[in-house]
Amino acid sequence: MLKTKGIKVIISALTILTSLFIFQKQTKAATVDSPIVRKVWVVEYDPRIPSEGNQRLSQLVGAYNPSTLVDQYINELKARSSNYINYQVVGWTERDEVAPLKNTDGFEYTKDGFWDCYQNDTIQNPACHEAENMREVDYLEMISDNTLCAKSNQYTADEVWFFDSGHMGFSEAVMAGPSNLYHTNGPPVTAPACQRHLHMMGFNQTRTVDWMEHSFMHRIEGTLAHAVFFEEPRTPPYPHASDWGKFMMTKQTWPGNAGCGLIHFPPNTNGNWVIGNGDDYNNTTTAKSYCNDFLLYPDLPDPPNYQYLRCGITGGWNCTGGSQVGFIAWWLDHLPKFKGTNPGGIGGATKLSNWWRYTVNYNLCKIPVMNLTTWVNDNLGGCNITWSWQSTPEGGPYDFQVDNSNPLTSPYLINLSKYNSNSYTVTSWNPGIYSARVRTNANFCISSNSWSTVDTNIVSCGVGGGE
Ligand SMILES: [Zn+2]
Repeated sequence: MLKTKGIKVIISALTILTSLFIFQKQTKAATVDSPIVRKVWVVEYDPRIPSEGNQRLSQLVGAYNPSTLVDQYINELKARSSNYINYQVVGWTERDEVAPLKNTDGFEYTKDGFWDCYQNDTIQNPACHEAENMREVDYLEMISDNTLCAKSNQYTADEVWFFDSGHMGFSEAVMAGPSNLYHTNGPPVTAPACQRHLHMMGFNQTRTVDWMEHSFMHRIEGTLAHAVFFEEPRTPPYPHASDWGKFMMTKQTWPGNAGCGLIHFPPNTNGNWVIGNGDDYNNTTTAKSYCNDFLLYPDLPDPPNYQYLRCGITGGWNCTGGSQVGFIAWWLDHLPKFKGTNPGGIGGATKLSNWWRYTVNYNLCKIPVMNLTTWVNDNLGGCNITWSWQSTPEGGPYDFQVDNSNPLTSPYLINLSKYNSNSYTVTSWNPGIYSARVRTNANFCISSNSWSTVDTNIVSCGVGGGE
């Protein structure tokens, strides 16, 4: 009896252990990427209108206070990214003028002329200049007027947020820079004076903060489609060979296998970019979706855990009176923000498990050029190393993970802070000499030869593509 009981106990313990293991595997929380700070310069175009007693346009139309919107936006993106993105406003320019138009006929609005356009413009009775109707501001002039390239080149600011009260013709998201630009949500602006990419957002301060997040979602979609995964799942034939494509699927574009959808089309939508019917966030039908699997990214369960989703039910988003608010929060919550890389690109191409990082600044994903200067065996299973940067990368922090699969076995660990830690976050990117201690599991100091291998195998931000 006792013996039998003992066996039973063992079996139970094994069962518990097994179920614990399974439980752990299914609920394994991925590690959120190390937080980054991005510095923002705000430029507000808010003309005083002479015919209205020099009141500001924003006052005349009852716009929101842009500093309140900025605070809400920063807090929202920080929360939705699990503290990954920390925007910090470093400067604010108020301009008593209408944003300059890009046109060939030399037209510029007077402030009163713009106010007339603002109040009276309709398709039937156009009161605005044609170029304004075409929504083309002169970004190069705005960049120059506000010395934005200098601010970016000197690392004073990493991106720019423009505000107007509507009608001035900003793109929701657009990129400027010297070359290798891509379409975030507007035609890129070639700006030779800028030495690196400059993201510029166009916000309308008559609208609530969810519209700022809406624009950011377009920037995510544009970046991932055009510069990272090279797959455009928003338009026919709705490709989904990459994890990004799978994330974006809706029941309309991939019946029975919806992912998380996209800004204008939640996964249970019946519309798409061709047929329209967008923004039906309160659609009462459900989609068979595996979106919640992306909370475990990149360890997507196989087969997927399908759920029938719509707003207002477990696993779905909040219904918010037909608005986009609940869906945006839910979608951003599911956008991967985790450390490391995975073969989630087309054909198994290596990509970051943090898609926010690509969106904030693709250049963060470049691998810096490193020169190892010295390496000395410390006889404790590690090396003391010294290296220098060859160039100034885009900013930090950067997580080092050194991947080495042969034959010294793995992984090399670069650790400036403590012995045998498996990662280190570099917070300073100034050129200069840096020292570190490298520990190898093989218990010996790497040679210069193996260092060059290690160097090229540094996995910092994944494999480039758009740059
Ligand atoms: Zn939109």
